[in-house]
Amino acid sequence: MGLVVQKYGGSSVADAEGIKRVAKRIVDAKKNGHQVVVVVSAMGDTTDELIDLAEQVSPMPAGREFDMLLTAGERISMALLAMAIKNLGHEAQSFTGSQAGVITDSVHNKARIIDVTPGRIRTALDQGNIAIVAGFQGVSADSKDITTLGRGGSDTTAVALAAALDAEVCEIYTDVDGVFTADPRVVKKARKIDWISSEDMLELAASGSKVLLHRCVEYARRYNIPIHVRSSFSGLPGTWVSNENPQGDAQVEHAIISGVAHDVSEAKITVVGVPDKPGEAAAIFRAIADAEINIDMIVQNVSAASTGLTDISFTLPKAEGHKAIDALEKAKGQIGFDSLRYDDQIGKISLVGAGMKTNPGVTASFFQALSDAGVNIELISTSEIRISVVTRQDDVNEAVRAVHTAFGLDSDSDEAVVYGGTGR
Ligand code: ADP
Ligand code: ASP
Ligand code: MG
Repeated sequence: MGLVVQKYGGSSVADAEGIKRVAKRIVDAKKNGHQVVVVVSAMGDTTDELIDLAEQVSPMPAGREFDMLLTAGERISMALLAMAIKNLGHEAQSFTGSQAGVITDSVHNKARIIDVTPGRIRTALDQGNIAIVAGFQGVSADSKDITTLGRGGSDTTAVALAAALDAEVCEIYTDVDGVFTADPRVVKKARKIDWISSEDMLELAASGSKVLLHRCVEYARRYNIPIHVRSSFSGLPGTWVSNENPQGDAQVEHAIISGVAHDVSEAKITVVGVPDKPGEAAAIFRAIADAEINIDMIVQNVSAASTGLTDISFTLPKAEGHKAIDALEKAKGQIGFDSLRYDDQIGKISLVGAGMKTNPGVTASFFQALSDAGVNIELISTSEIRISVVTRQDDVNEAVRAVHTAFGLDSDSDEAVVYGGTGR
């Protein structure tokens, strides 16, 4: 029996009952002979509540203090979980990210892991303990300050520890039975996927399926760590995410479409009246990049012949909206544009599947489904295994359901179960 890393999300440890339920599961894994490392998130919506609290005392909290505050959420759950396990008669020790050896760069609020040195975890395991690690946090190698990995970052902590400890599997426990063909909160007839390739999962996660964080899938793919996404509320097997299909590719026909993802966390900025000459796009996106903002989709309109001016629109996380507008306003003299428009009432719908590159007509059927549902498309982007469109936010749920049905993904059996969480 090898080492397993188990990660429990906030909805799984939302209250004392939840913590006790999870503690039993962890002890069961230990009783089965495994060495167990647990990564835990903050209880319920604690992180959101801490963010709200910070905003009440300061509109722009300093990154260092913000991270210090947010990591408190995970510290609460790790200590309570260790107590609950001890209460069941088993040894457990909790560790902060820093104590567990999660070393990051020094970018507050979205730090990247640069090394994992889990010496203390190894020692705790060797002494027969269950090791509990606070997710979503680390310590900067340079500044020695506490950092956080960005929202949903406990998934990344879990995979990073699994890689560093050479775990046989990284289990991600959440409030649904696995990865579905669409968010079960939106599509009741979503189907559970038994196995999905890292490649398709990466694309779903990058397109907004928050059941797994994009960076965690990236990490798992690089270090070849199999992930098992499953519910902490049921005993059902979940979804395996790995580079190679465990049953062999020959036996399992690759689905053309893996699923439909949606994302309402982005906003759109339109730079109006940009001179249509070389270097303009470079200047706009340099200003955005210098502000350390990641953008997603971009479109440039055909310029009006009479004015020689064009518009450039792009999408970015809503949370970065103010920063982007500030950066562009500061560079306005140098870029030369008329005005900026900001729209945070957009949503993105993406269809993902490695099979689509060899199946003509997928794009046409996707657009037809949206048109039949009366949904207007504002931006489009494609990759080899994904098509994404931006629509009005109000249309997103309807659009996801329409596309899910049009591609034959609706299940004809039970409705997908959502066991907990508030969907926040
Ligand atoms: P946790 O607190 O365990 O980290 P999250 O809220 O981050 O949980 O992720 C689980 C949620 O992800 C589910 O409750 C579901 O609403 C959402 N989700 C979005 N897309 C999918 C999908 N394709 N399959 C399963 N869940 C999805
Ligand atoms: N508690 C953090 C969040 O809510 C990290 C996590 O749950 O993964 O984003
Ligand atoms: Mg999560």
